[in-house]
Amino acid sequence: MKKPIAGFSKLSKSEKIEWIAANYTQNPQELKKILESYWNSDSRLQQLHDEFIENTISNFYMPMGIAPNFLINDRLYAIPMAIEESSVVAAASKAAKFWEGRGGFRTTVLGTEKVGQVHFMYHGSTSKLLDFFKNIKTTLLSEAEHLTQSMQKRGGGIKDIVLKDKTSELPNYYQLHCTFETQDAMGANFINSCLEQFAETLKKEALAHPYFSEQEKQLEVVMSILSNYVPNCLVKAEVRCPIDQLNLTQDISPRDFAEKMVRAVEIAKVEPYRAVTHNKGIMNGIDAVVLATGNDFRAIEAGAHAYAAKDGTYSSLTHAKIEGDLFSFWIEIPLAVGTVGGLTKLHPLVKLNLEILQQPSAVELMQIMAVAGLAQNFAAVSSLVTTGIQKGHMKMHLMNILNQHNATDKEKEAILAHFKTHTVTHRGVLNSLENLRK
Ligand code: NDP
Repeated sequence: MKKPIAGFSKLSKSEKIEWIAANYTQNPQELKKILESYWNSDSRLQQLHDEFIENTISNFYMPMGIAPNFLINDRLYAIPMAIEESSVVAAASKAAKFWEGRGGFRTTVLGTEKVGQVHFMYHGSTSKLLDFFKNIKTTLLSEAEHLTQSMQKRGGGIKDIVLKDKTSELPNYYQLHCTFETQDAMGANFINSCLEQFAETLKKEALAHPYFSEQEKQLEVVMSILSNYVPNCLVKAEVRCPIDQLNLTQDISPRDFAEKMVRAVEIAKVEPYRAVTHNKGIMNGIDAVVLATGNDFRAIEAGAHAYAAKDGTYSSLTHAKIEGDLFSFWIEIPLAVGTVGGLTKLHPLVKLNLEILQQPSAVELMQIMAVAGLAQNFAAVSSLVTTGIQKGHMKMHLMNILNQHNATDKEKEAILAHFKTHTVTHRGVLNSLENLRK
């Protein structure tokens, strides 16, 4: 019978491991061996990782690969990707190479605005609240100046604060809807600090407001927090070429291929079951770059999917069209990312990946990520409308199956050769392995 533990966080790392080993595993020695095998031999590097989060007991590795040949606005990039799913880096590389020979990717940043809100409850006259807000708006801004000075010097800061009446959706609910420019930072800490200051000023000024009743003075701040929905922090990435250059495979004519691509995207626009998987494929590419550059993939995911549902139905984040002889394929996606702050200057691999990406600004990184998502989607949809994706996937998955069953190098060599001309299935690989081992 397991018992809860008090004060776990106060234990040393080895005490934590002892406790988890004694209480949650059949084989404590094996658990310790595995955890320790993932520690870094450089104790300073290990300590850095230990201190990223709480209660650290080991590191969780993920492969990091490179997808080369991305021509973005006439500049070549090799994109680092951290991802566990086989075939993502291969697909991105294939799409990059294909478009490199057809003019590459064109990108535009459509906006960089971030959002945060102070949510509060107010029991009283809305018009009095509006007048009050007009009076205190400059105080809200001036009392946050100690937080915003250096951001302003960089050209960023608070853009605006708007009072929103949300009482038709929830009785007595209002908000300060605030917009920010956070330059090369994703901005979560800057925005949250500003919002908490706005909340303090709001409460203080309400208490002192001469025209408020006692009840109106007691407005209740519920929370102050940035929003990960950033529809105006938006980037567009596009590829286009004459249809006759869409000669990916001999099995389908370039025009049929272009038409099938457009139809596949149209389906993802109207059918949420397909759109979710379509967008998941886009996020395969984007998340891998988000992780490799130390950004927050939960924030990016939440914002991207909310944007995909902005018109009331969950829909495709990519678009495709044929105009005369020209095929175009593009993505529009909100990406609030940073090249400073968070882990970006701390994690040695993140620093290295930003160097590989030629030290991008946040705005450049948005463009690189959007391109990775578009490339991924182009590769996935083009496989889907031609050969299907299983052929490529299972080929990549073959190595995972072999490793799962501890295949030796010699066994791997023989089985890889066999499956060059046979369809890969899980059972088929096991059968081959068993035959070899007989
Ligand atoms: P940091 O607070 O670590 O760093 C950003 C700060 O760096 C800025 O506020 C600024 O401070 C300074 N800075 C230095 N150079 C620049 C520059 N060129 N451009 C902009 N700022 C610069 O990171 P963030 O505020 O970006 O927060 C990111 C982290 O927050 C992520 O790790 C994320 O996981 C986490 N987070 C996310 C949340 C969410 O998404 N909902 C919620 C809470 C946290 P100064 O002006 O003072 O110099």
